[in-house]
Order: sequence, then C-alpha cells, then structure tokens
Amino acid sequence: MDWFYETLHPELRAGIRVDEAIYNGETAFQSVRVFRNERLGRVLVLDGVVQTTEADEFFYHEMLTHPAMLAHGNVRNVLIIGGGDGGCMEEVLKHDVDKVILAELDPEVIELSKQYLPSICGGAFDDPRAEVMIGDGARFVAETDQRFDLIIVDSTDPIGPGEVLFQAPFYRGCHRALADGGVVITQNGVTFVQPEEVTGTHRAFRDIFDHHGFYMACVPMYAGGSMAFGWGGKGRDLPATGLATIERAYAARDLKTRYYNPDVHAAAFALPNYVRDLMT
Ligand code: SAM
Repeated sequence: MDWFYETLHPELRAGIRVDEAIYNGETAFQSVRVFRNERLGRVLVLDGVVQTTEADEFFYHEMLTHPAMLAHGNVRNVLIIGGGDGGCMEEVLKHDVDKVILAELDPEVIELSKQYLPSICGGAFDDPRAEVMIGDGARFVAETDQRFDLIIVDSTDPIGPGEVLFQAPFYRGCHRALADGGVVITQNGVTFVQPEEVTGTHRAFRDIFDHHGFYMACVPMYAGGSMAFGWGGKGRDLPATGLATIERAYAARDLKTRYYNPDVHAAAFALPNYVRDLMT
C-alpha cells in the first residue's frame, strides 16, 4: 500500500493513502503530483504540500471568495493571484462580475488541473469573463494599470515561489492595484501550526491598509486546525457590513454553496484569543 506524507511541517507528518497514482512530474517551478484517495477523490500536491482535494475544496474556495464578494456588494473586477487549479475562479464566476484575471506563475498547474481536476475548476477557464496571465503575481500588482475591486491571493505556502506573496512589497502592490473601496483577501495558513503567518501579515497590513483583520474557517486537509484568511481594505472595513445586508445579498444572488452561508460569514470573523494575541 502506497502512502503520501506531507512535508510542510518538519515536526508533524500527515498522511493520505494513495489508491491510484495519476500524475507525477516536475515543472520549471515545482513538483506536481495528482493521485486519488477513496475518501478525498483526486488530490493535488505541489512541492510535497496538499493544495486541494476534490472532496474538501469547497470549504477553502468558498471561504476565500464569498465573504468579500458579499460584504463589498458591488465587485466588478477581480484579480486572483495564484489559484492555478481554477477552484477560486469558479466561485468568483458564480457572481455577476465583469472580469476575472488569474495571475498564475506556473502554466503547467493550470493545464494539469484542467486535465486531471475538471471537477474543481468546472468551466471556469472557458468563461468569457475569465482571463489568464502567466507570470509572478507580485510583479503583476506592481506594474498593472488596471484597478480591481477584489484581489484574492490563492497562493502556495510561504516557501518556494509563493514566499514573495507573504511579504510587504507584494501587499503594497495589492494596495496600489485596488480601486477605492477595494479589498484584498489572503490565505494565511493554519494558525495553530503556522502562527507566524498571521503576525507577519498583520504587521504589514497595519502599515498599508486603512482597515484589516482576519477571519477563520476549518479546511479538513490543511492539517492542524482552522486556517486564517487575511483581509485588507482600501477605505473599506469588511466586517462592518452587517448580517442583514449579507443575508439580503446572499438571497438575491441565489448562490449555490455547500459551506458558506450568512451565519457562517458572521461567525467566521470571531477570533479565538490565541489568534488575537498573534496580532501584535
Ligand atoms: N489552495 C491552495 C493552498 O492553499 O494550498 C493554493 C492553490 S493554488 C494551486 C496555488 C498556486 O500559487 C500554485 O499553482 C502556484 O504555482 C501559484 N504561485 C506560487 N507562487 C506564485 C507567484 N509568485 N505568483 C503567482 N502564482 C504563484
């Protein structure tokens, strides 16, 4: 019997049984592995770290996308940094947006995801509102002339090519590329085992954005407990949008979601004390 063991944390080892090997290869940027597990369906692994699985992708992709979409209320232009599996883009495209740009470093992740994980991206890459830019996301936000209502950072962990996406120069680029009233959302790791990610992003956001904070959700295959999502607002305080407004927007958009709903939205902004303590 073959097992995959994640290599993200040197002191912990999470394993997933490999019931069918599907793809193993190296791109110019990272190693890519796709396999099937009886409970999880297909699993995407980059550089030895689980990115997403068919069974639990909805926890992550819905919580990365819908809180900001609904709290902002009028998102027309969206930029996704990373996100090559297309799962985040699929969630964004459930809304009435004009345009979504996906700025992904590694074109092979996109091609392999289309080929082996079509249930995660759905038809997102074929949607006429979707555009793919290949290149470093940090460079894109520093140079683009476009302005976005929402930037979603759907990155790998802060090792390898994703490291720049956790640093202040990138966050300043995001602020520059946001329209007034715009919001950036980041994946900020599993707080119990990656506490430094919240502290690092908090310190950078404090200096850059008018308002910022975190919300949380548990994503089963990101081992170690709940993960944090960071938010930074350019003239917008995300949790200031009240529950009644979120409920009206959710009902009006007739969103089909499996994790997200207005009650989950409100609860997600409640932070445990040990997470508040990381914001120093
Ligand atoms: N859901 C995932 C997670 O949190 O584990 C992230 C999924 S998505 C596949 C992450 C993507 O970020 C990868 O495809 C990777 O190529 C891309 N990426 C890493 N560094 C990047 C950079 N500097 N610019 C743009 N994309 C980057």
